[in-house]
Amino acid sequence: MMKQLQATLDIEQILRTFFNEVQHLVPLDGCHYQAEHVGLMLDFGDTGRHRCNYELSLHDEQFGRLGFSRNRRLQEREMQLLESVMDVLIYPLRNALLYRKALATAMIDPLTGLNNRGAMAITLNREMDRMRRHNQDMSILMVDIDRFKDINDRYGHLAGDDVLRQVAQIIDTTIRGCDACFRFGGEEFLIMLTDSNLPLARMVAERLRHTVCEQTRSPAPNAHVTISVGVAHFDNESDWPELVDRADRALYQAKQDGRNRVAISQPVTAPV
Ligand code: GH3
Ligand code: MG
Ligand code: MG
Repeated sequence: MMKQLQATLDIEQILRTFFNEVQHLVPLDGCHYQAEHVGLMLDFGDTGRHRCNYELSLHDEQFGRLGFSRNRRLQEREMQLLESVMDVLIYPLRNALLYRKALATAMIDPLTGLNNRGAMAITLNREMDRMRRHNQDMSILMVDIDRFKDINDRYGHLAGDDVLRQVAQIIDTTIRGCDACFRFGGEEFLIMLTDSNLPLARMVAERLRHTVCEQTRSPAPNAHVTISVGVAHFDNESDWPELVDRADRALYQAKQDGRNRVAISQPVTAPV
């Protein structure tokens, strides 16, 4: 069984294999796994009337809780058997949990705590597919901090980092739960607004522009940190770089027009 469990890093598959294999030793009705620290809850089979639960741990490290259930009462001997066979599960499960954590970390920008560009590509591809299928609205905002290089040059990179973190925090609290924001690069952020047409996206962009200007603490005395925003509405583009490119051009326009403003990208297709 050890070989089979080590063949994958997928937690669900590991537990399913374990549950299936364990049946040869102790017939069971169901198995339940819960690991709050990683937000996992998995069920296999049915829930039986009698249960026994085990905390999974290794050298003070916790790996969640595993419960077995069966309608027929579990015998003492059977529980001992389950306990001993669980040793086989612990290492593969630990590796899979570590892998899951590494994947999640790889998607996060360490400075701002926002999702990074890698996560953005995955999310945008998925959402664009969904929009096409359901014919729904989606808009994106490309946000860029104005004259950010000046902040770095005059007050140092740490002051610049602090401004980046503040702006990221404001973006994160301004958007709705169903929206998503990403650090696109340097001092640029991309926001994905689901179910948003152009007027709504423009409103969100303007609100964000005001909030950043009012709430960001600037290292420069009596100065405001401002942003420029390019807005683009999903117009059935075939891939995300096309859509991002339009938002980027609108952002460029906002910069050209004097910064601290919102510019809209007009849809490519002509209205019928
Ligand atoms: P504009 O209004 O045209 O956007 O001007 P800008 O100065 O904001 O734009 P520019 O692209 O010239 O400068 C961006 C700067 O952002 C340059 C780069 O050193 C800085 N930067 C990029 N990433 C980070 C970071 O993680 N921390 C800090 N402190 N600075 C960064
Ligand atoms: Mg920039
Ligand atoms: Mg900038």
